[in-house]
Amino acid sequence: MYLIIGASLAGAKAAQTLREEGYTGRLVMVGEETVRPYERPPLSKGYLSGKEPQEKAFVHDAGWYSEHDVELILGRRATHLDTAAHTVTLDGVDELHYEKLLLATGSRVRTLDLPGMDNHGIRYLRTMDEAEALLASLRTGATWW
Ligand SMILES: Cc1cc2nc3c(=O)[nH]c(=O)nc-3n(C[C@H](O)[C@H](O)[C@H](O)COP(=O)(O)OP(=O)(O)OC[C@H]3O[C@@H](n4cnc5c(N)ncnc54)[C@H](O)[C@@H]3O)c2cc1C
Repeated sequence: MYLIIGASLAGAKAAQTLREEGYTGRLVMVGEETVRPYERPPLSKGYLSGKEPQEKAFVHDAGWYSEHDVELILGRRATHLDTAAHTVTLDGVDELHYEKLLLATGSRVRTLDLPGMDNHGIRYLRTMDEAEALLASLRTGATWW
């Protein structure tokens, strides 16, 4: 089994390339976010301005994964890697055995440790959920501070 940890742009494109280049074995992608892989640039551009639907941000159509026999395990976090045993543990519980492993875990938001950062209205923008919440606030003209 080819296991990809990180279900975002890099992971989804790697899965696509594997299939395009003839890999026919079991292909599993694990991501801690609960939505299928999407691109982040629209979150601060077309989607946030309300000009583009959320659907445009997704790397592939919802059906692409089953059509290409790519198993998506979403909402699960890889918490342990044992390279000797070739296993990855999800959420400290379930163990997946892999032959090949790709870590496509990207980056994470760097929070600021400054006075006032716990005030209501301080927002970070990295995920689709955060973009959705920000857009909703912009639409209602909410005051955040
Ligand atoms: C708002 C915004 C706007 C951007 N605009 C631009 C732009 O205009 N131009 C540009 O070039 N770049 C832009 N970027 C940067 C670009 O989005 C990133 O370079 C790109 O997302 C990197 O993709 P990735 O798949 O490597 O990693 P990421 O997008 O970081 O995805 C990694 C995924 O792995 C998951 N993950 C991490 N650890 C684990 C784990 N242990 N178990 C399971 N899953 C895990 C994460 O939840 C995440 O979904 C922007 C980024 C943001 C946030």
